[in-house]
Amino acid sequence: MTTRLADPAPRVTAVEHTPFTPLAIATDRCKGCELCVTACPHHVLELDQAVVNALGYHPVRLVDPAGCTSCVLCARVCPDAVFTVFAPRKEARS
Ligand code: SF4
Ligand code: SF4
Repeated sequence: MTTRLADPAPRVTAVEHTPFTPLAIATDRCKGCELCVTACPHHVLELDQAVVNALGYHPVRLVDPAGCTSCVLCARVCPDAVFTVFAPRKEARS
């Protein structure tokens, strides 16, 4: 009987190859009120005029992921819990 050795190559998870996205946006819950657009201190949110969601509104979109600092202000002002905000990876914070 032969014994198969484990693959000696280092394993790299898919997460390491995925570009970091600071926000998950539940666009079908957005009512287009623009509270988040006004609250964002880095002006990286806008309503997507090319899209109409299930509620009949233009939903918000993140126009510049690199400009988002995960400050969470958008999530705090949104009345419809549209945002989930992720903290930046440790290496990106320094
Ligand atoms: S987390 Fe902060 S910087 Fe990022 S989109 Fe929301 S308000 Fe703007
Ligand atoms: S605050 Fe919420 S409901 Fe209003 S535009 Fe932003 S994501 Fe949409």
